[in-house]
This record gives sequence, C-alpha cells and structure tokens, in this order.
Amino acid sequence: MHVYATVRAMQDAARTAMREGRTLALVPTMGALHAGHIALVHEARRHANHVTVSIFVNPTQFGPNEDFDRYPRTWEQDLAALREAGVDAVFAPNVHDLYPFGQEERVWVQVEALDAHLCGPFRPGHFRGVTTVVSKLFLACQPDVAVFGLKDAQQFFILKRMTEALGFPIRMVGVPTVREADGLALSSRNRYLTPEQRAHAAAIPKALFHIRERIVKGEREVKPLVQSLHARIQEAPGARVQYAEVVDTQRLQPVDLLADGMQVLVAVAVYVGQTRLIDNLIIDVSAASTHAHHAVSRQVA
Ligand code: AMP
Repeated sequence: MHVYATVRAMQDAARTAMREGRTLALVPTMGALHAGHIALVHEARRHANHVTVSIFVNPTQFGPNEDFDRYPRTWEQDLAALREAGVDAVFAPNVHDLYPFGQEERVWVQVEALDAHLCGPFRPGHFRGVTTVVSKLFLACQPDVAVFGLKDAQQFFILKRMTEALGFPIRMVGVPTVREADGLALSSRNRYLTPEQRAHAAAIPKALFHIRERIVKGEREVKPLVQSLHARIQEAPGARVQYAEVVDTQRLQPVDLLADGMQVLVAVAVYVGQTRLIDNLIIDVSAASTHAHHAVSRQVA
C-alpha cells in the first residue's frame, strides 16, 4: 500500500495504474475510520482493481463553530485498517496542497437548490465545501468509480448531481448505512458520546424504523409521521431534534403526501448532548417492505 501526500504524486500514480489497464476506485474519507468506511472499501473492490482511499479533514466543509479542530484523527490505526482491507493507495494531502491559494482561493464548486432542506440550512457553506473538495479529490485520484455512504444521503445526491452536471466520467456508487447491533449508524462522531448518551442515541434509528413500518402498513400522510419521529427521538434524555424531514430523492423537497412509486428520504439531525448526529432511511413507497432500503440503495447506486 502506497501513501501519497501531494496531488502531483497521486496523479502520477493514478496515471500509471490507468496505463497498466487497471480500473480505479476512490473512497473519500476524513479518517477516524470505522466499519462503515471499510464497507465502502469492499464495495470499491467489487468495481475496480485499484482502490484509493483519501484521508483529508476538509476545513472548508466545517462551519466556524463546528468541530474541525477536535475532529478525531487516528492516522496509525487508519493506515493499519486500510492495509488489512487490501487498499492499494492512500491519498493524504496537506491543506496547502489541496488549497494552494489558502484563504484567498475563492474557487468553489457549488450545487444549488439540493441544499435548501435537511442539513443545508443548518450548515451554511457545508455542501459547497464538500463539492469543492470532492472535485479536487477526483482530479487528483482520477477514479473511474467513486464510492460514498448513504448515511450522508443528501451529500450523495448532491455529489451525484455535481458529477453528472460537470461531466466527470465517474460512476457514483452509494452504499447502505452500516449500523451497530442496536441500530445506531456508525459515525466517527459517535466517539464523542458518553456511555449514557451512546445508549440513548439508539432512539434515533428506532424512531426511523418505526416510521418505515407505518409507511409499509400504508400510512401516507407525512405530517403525523414527522411528528412521531420528533416525539420518539426527543423522548431520549439529552436528545434534541434539529430537523426531521421527509423529502423526495429527486429534488430533495419536502413531501406532504406519499404516493406509490415515490422514493423518499426520511432524514434527521439530532443533538445528543453537544454531539450532532445524522441518520436517514431511503424508502421506495410503491415497493415499501422491510427490504425496501436495500433494494432502493442498489437502485440509487
Ligand atoms: P466521513 O469520513 O465521515 O466523511 O465519511 C466518509 C464516507 O464514509 C462518506 O461517504 C460517508 O457517507 C461514509 N460513511 C460514514 N459512516 C458510514 C456508515 N455508518 N455506513 C456507511 N457509510 C458510511
């Protein structure tokens, strides 16, 4: 496994792999790796015979009061996990290499409209930071396939739109959320939780699964579903819902009434103490069943 620290070195390695006739996959991460990230690596391996994982805590996607400085950094463990997963290359640039003009750069890639709901209003500039850095990672790593987690569903839909609109010749693959035994979505931020908070956080996926059951049973009006989602999560001590929304997966706009054939994203952001967690389910209303999430995940991929 090779580690590349500059854009130039990464591009050279990618071009060499390409000349050797290899198919390249990229898995962008911010490190602090867990089993969710490793699931992306395994998925990448199914599509490509050269897998690059990037590790970069991207400053432009953090707001001024967010956790950039204290975001967990576990470099040695990350490298060991990636080696064990059979990764070919790690791209770990420093911030000056990826943003050569620093604060003066003022060059952005932005997808409008799809950030009007869910995380967008609460994290101004976040998705612009994500689309900009992923564009830079694409140009550095030259992938044929890029693999992302559907745990960050809004991010995935925005990046997919960016890729199609700009014509990046890259296939976008979305991987279903990897969860703990009690349903909590794996996240690098889970390590901020105290044991009590960690236990209470299981209310988030439980509430989402409950809503899915009600949709499967035929409930179509969104308002009571969202109210119940709110109430069930807020019952957990120390939990505060920032948003709970049901949007269509095409435009990411709120839906009032579900209809057969619709694909919706049921998404929440919840503060548990000081820690902000997000989670979601993608539900195919016409085929709503307990297997819907997996079927739909393949479909969006
Ligand atoms: P991050 O390092 O948190 O920026 O995440 C890097 C990639 O891993 C993103 O595409 C995330 O959506 C994905 N990811 C994070 N957590 C999970 C999870 N629990 N299951 C699947 N993918 C995940």
